[in-house]
Amino acid sequence: MTADPSKTADPSKTIYIVSLGCAKNRVDSEVLLGLLRTAGYRPVAEPEEAEVVLVNTCGFIEAARTESVDAVLEAAELKRTGRCETLVVAGCMVQRYGADLAAELPEADKLIGTANLAEVVDLMGGQGRLRADPGRSFLYDHTYERNPSLGPHTAYVKVSEGCDRQCAFCAVPGIRGSQQSRPMASIVTEVRQLVAGGVREVNLVAQDLTAYGRDLSPRPGLAGLLRDLRRVDGLDWIRLLYAYPSEADDALIGVLAEGLPVVPYLDVPVQHVDDKVLRIMRRGYRGDDVRRLMDRLRGAVDNIFLRTTLLVGHPGEDEAAFASLVDFCAQAQLDHVGVFAYSPEESTPAFALEAPPSEVALARQQRLLTQQQQISGERLSRLVGATLDVLVDGPSPETDLLAAGRHAGQAPEVDGLVHLADLEDPRPGRLVRAEVEQSAEYDLVARVLPKP
Ligand code: SF4
Repeated sequence: MTADPSKTADPSKTIYIVSLGCAKNRVDSEVLLGLLRTAGYRPVAEPEEAEVVLVNTCGFIEAARTESVDAVLEAAELKRTGRCETLVVAGCMVQRYGADLAAELPEADKLIGTANLAEVVDLMGGQGRLRADPGRSFLYDHTYERNPSLGPHTAYVKVSEGCDRQCAFCAVPGIRGSQQSRPMASIVTEVRQLVAGGVREVNLVAQDLTAYGRDLSPRPGLAGLLRDLRRVDGLDWIRLLYAYPSEADDALIGVLAEGLPVVPYLDVPVQHVDDKVLRIMRRGYRGDDVRRLMDRLRGAVDNIFLRTTLLVGHPGEDEAAFASLVDFCAQAQLDHVGVFAYSPEESTPAFALEAPPSEVALARQQRLLTQQQQISGERLSRLVGATLDVLVDGPSPETDLLAAGRHAGQAPEVDGLVHLADLEDPRPGRLVRAEVEQSAEYDLVARVLPKP
């Protein structure tokens, strides 16, 4: 099934988007669907019903690329067995591998990289098969129509694109380009629009959230942005994802300490705590800086929930370095921990360095995840008996008898849930008071309390 480069898609067709990878990519998928919908394409709930299937890929590490290719091949099957006439591949993997990927995926009718997302309607309706301009990046603003995909009540808001850091293991700056921040007014306007449409929680995302505004003049900084967002009427929760450890400064901690609508939650991807590994990673901080930061956050912000991501099996990580990471996790008792096994990525500085074998990295990943499962379970058990505000996401994915939501310490998609009993109306977006009755490793069960 080889693609025909002169093929065009009729904008009255039905469309389904498969969004892979991170929250930032989800924002791109929502912008893509918004553009296509405005042009006349009609979104459908199931891929089998779609005449156009678009797979928005992730090209960050090997495992993500495998998942992306599998998703493209699965979608290509729909051209044989379903209604699909046009298969579009978009996103990071296209941006990174461009023409090579186009040659390897003859099933794809159109391919569009992250730099060219705004041109999707033009590409679909015109000649040509691939657009992925190197050295460019695209960043949406408040004028773009977005098609919310997390529900009517919660949304990610991307405040900047790209990254100016040069972490040795990371291919992102090569894919997404250098840091480009949105003007503060555009972000505030977008958040106002989202709130007017029913959103109660915004989750601020960026490759490096703490670098927000560094390329703007004057430099508002993340704390400045938060001060303006605090004033948006009707916004209940503002959540911060991806704060670079050495950049979480007093101004930011001060804004967190001021409390709602900024929730007591911070995602700080520390990656490691061993000084030698951190040096090889080019992270620009030491293990003790990380430990001090966790103490400062806990000291300044009441009941803060902390999330991090760790990278194991990186060049330089010997048994002793890994043991220090295990100790750190045991002592820091973080609420949510994601662990990645190192994947050598072409065109990154770490690629040329020798790393522990991949089976060692996978075993270390498993060891940390097992330890964290216990820590998470213990921490959640301390919430039994507590009364929490819970934002309802909808019916529970586990049983129709319960609704599901999240308390302020749980981010969408990546953290656990609160399963709610006694909630007659599980419509997303209600903020209810609930008493925690049971806890598991990642989730809570709570009873909704009557309104006072
Ligand atoms: S901060 Fe480092 S790990 Fe994060 S996107 Fe930038 S280069 Fe990659």
